[in-house]
Amino acid sequence: MAFRDECGVFGIWPMPEASRQAYLGLYALQHRGQEAAGICSRDNGRLHLHKAQGYVADVFSEATLDRLPGDAAIGHTRYSTTGGNVASAAHPFVVEGRFGQIALCHNGNLTNTEILRHRLIEAGQVFSSPSDSEVILALINRAQAPSLEDAVVEALRQVEGAFSVLILTEDALMAARDPHGFRPLAMGRLGEATTFSSETCAFDLLGADYVREVEPGELVVVDRQGTRSRFPLARVQARPCVFEHVYFARPDSLVYGLSVMATRRDMGRLLARRHPVAADLVVPVPDSGVSAALGYSEESGIPFDFGLIRNHYVGRTFIEPRQSIRSFGVKVKLNPVRELLRGKRVVLVDDSVVRGTTSRKIVSMVRAAGAAEVHMRISSPPTTHPCFYGIDTPDREHLLAARMDVEGIRTFIGADSVGYLTLDDLQASVKDAGGESFCYACFTGEYPVTPRSKGTCG
Ligand code: SF4
Repeated sequence: MAFRDECGVFGIWPMPEASRQAYLGLYALQHRGQEAAGICSRDNGRLHLHKAQGYVADVFSEATLDRLPGDAAIGHTRYSTTGGNVASAAHPFVVEGRFGQIALCHNGNLTNTEILRHRLIEAGQVFSSPSDSEVILALINRAQAPSLEDAVVEALRQVEGAFSVLILTEDALMAARDPHGFRPLAMGRLGEATTFSSETCAFDLLGADYVREVEPGELVVVDRQGTRSRFPLARVQARPCVFEHVYFARPDSLVYGLSVMATRRDMGRLLARRHPVAADLVVPVPDSGVSAALGYSEESGIPFDFGLIRNHYVGRTFIEPRQSIRSFGVKVKLNPVRELLRGKRVVLVDDSVVRGTTSRKIVSMVRAAGAAEVHMRISSPPTTHPCFYGIDTPDREHLLAARMDVEGIRTFIGADSVGYLTLDDLQASVKDAGGESFCYACFTGEYPVTPRSKGTCG
């Protein structure tokens, strides 16, 4: 079981009932954040906002969408990486300053937030939340540049780390990606409208066509004159997050122009070649292990089946019986299919091992269901370092692979064998998007941007 998701962003201009299109877009991006959702629309030069904690379907109703009129909108689904699950940190943020009203939402973590925030507070700035987004908005409003577009550039040149950001103003929609391009941002077209999304699965739901990626370091501006692009940020080697392909993104999305389903299947095939084992059944840890397990099965010739069933309706918290001596834990989410597993030598495929406690429970569950052997196969290298670019990860001392070798991990989780994908194999699986140039810091500790502080996803 992997690191936690981060955030999803969506934007569209110009489109009748833009907020309803954004609502659909956010629905498709729900997997990227379940703690809060928000939409800001633009109508006759005024911005309208609704945001709250909860799932997209709970946050919005016919009535709330009716209060978001206009022909342009941006939206956000949030998973808080740091700063806690506080309502004040929901996106988008809207401020009114010398450039009129500006709304902003973003995906990613800034790595110099504390320095910038401290400097801004010293200069008299006040903040209502721990969000990085407020820092960017403050920098825009305090910029020396005479135009809003140049003020945005001036602000983005000061921030470090990961950001895929959408900005809605009284007369433009802007999309920008940090120079390393850590987090994805795709551009699409729906009739006359230009649309942006963290993942292309949102375009599919709307019937929009995928056009291209917003490039690392690019600023795209959409207004009445049309769509224009510039590259005002420092030119550096792009470092898109490989974990989007390992785990975060939906398999039906294109991310960095690559099919996530195809890359995950390749990871599974390479894993089967690297760590073959005599077994009867390949079983994914659902949902994120499914595509890699299919690849493992195809390459090895071992049959694939759903030996674990996931309950998709589990909320973030649930109440256990007070008198219970058992901990329900992972059993609430996953249940084994005993009839499939009994007496079988099982290859269990998952995307990653973080703390190892969940993997240990799953292995134990599969054994208790009657499996004769359990062989764990992981479709990424050992995760030894935390992420500072928008993914919620435990500190290094809590990462199992930072504390022990593969044999230690095997003993800890109680499997008969454990096999990880190698870094070379992972690079090979995303080679069509420039494999070696991705960010692999959580596997290598080689951080493309020195982490000076941990910001918040939005
Ligand atoms: S450290 Fe890992 S999770 Fe974070 S951006 Fe890099 S590859 Fe992605």
